[in-house]
Amino acid sequence: MAIRNIVKEGDPVLRKTCRSVLNFDDKLAQLLDDMKETMYKAEGVGLAAPQVGMLKRVCIVDVGDGLIELVNPVILEQSGSQTGGEGCLSSPGEYGNVTRPMEVTVRAQDRFGNTFTVTGTELKARAFCHEIDHLNGILFKDKVEGGIRIEK
Ligand code: ZN
Repeated sequence: MAIRNIVKEGDPVLRKTCRSVLNFDDKLAQLLDDMKETMYKAEGVGLAAPQVGMLKRVCIVDVGDGLIELVNPVILEQSGSQTGGEGCLSSPGEYGNVTRPMEVTVRAQDRFGNTFTVTGTELKARAFCHEIDHLNGILFKDKVEGGIRIEK
């Protein structure tokens, strides 16, 4: 495994739409392993492949109850709403309020290509939405209400 560099806001790779993963091979496993190590080192709760420069529909989430690897994720259902503080490893030190669904059900594939669904509420729902937005070139700042706070 290896730590990869986290791409910062302003890099055009963060504004591209990612391609679906077709090959569930060793390269995908390596990417997921590296993303995991990179996310934990940066103390994030989620990381998307474009944040390490890869335009693939791959993201990971861990809000403290275990790692979830999402390949080709799609939001199947969402309900309710929550407004709260959000940040991004690609925009260090910057935070803002974003409204997200309170509960989200995602369908995705694992690293072997097996399809599964996972439901998250509160922070996990927020993380799923934030990371899946990254796969479509959308950043949390596009959705911030009331301005950005700088906290170093
Ligand atoms: Zn982010």
